[in-house]
Amino acid sequence: MRVTGLPPYDPTNVFARILRGEIPSKKVHEDDFALAFHDINPQAPVHVLVIPKGAYCSHADFTASATDAEIAGFWRAVGKVARDLGLEAGGYRILSNMGEDGGQEVPHFHVHIFGGRRIGRMVPRAEA
Ligand code: AMP
Repeated sequence: MRVTGLPPYDPTNVFARILRGEIPSKKVHEDDFALAFHDINPQAPVHVLVIPKGAYCSHADFTASATDAEIAGFWRAVGKVARDLGLEAGGYRILSNMGEDGGQEVPHFHVHIFGGRRIGRMVPRAEA
């Protein structure tokens, strides 16, 4: 089921191409539900992206349309990746941008994991 009001999934997006193996990624984890790889433009000492295997545009699409097994499998993978990267002792941040106001650039649902330093404010101050 696709959520009304959201754009259709674009199978040419860069993360779809990574999932199909058409372009390389620095993979850190893969299972039936998720693929995790290093962000190409890291914003922290550790900056990893976790994406579901299924074709979901955004968090809105994923939470409305994915099966319970896909949702559970995906979020377990996010936790495992952070744990395996050694981030639990120091802490980390997870973040998902959704849509235009959220600043989403790649239209395949993904979660960022940031760690390895103090990440700072939760949301930057708005421009004056
Ligand atoms: P977002 O603004 O949440 O859509 O973030 C998209 C992220 O994908 C950015 O942090 C980019 O640096 C990252 N990105 C774009 N292309 C690639 C790629 N080929 N491999 C890894 N990360 C990428």
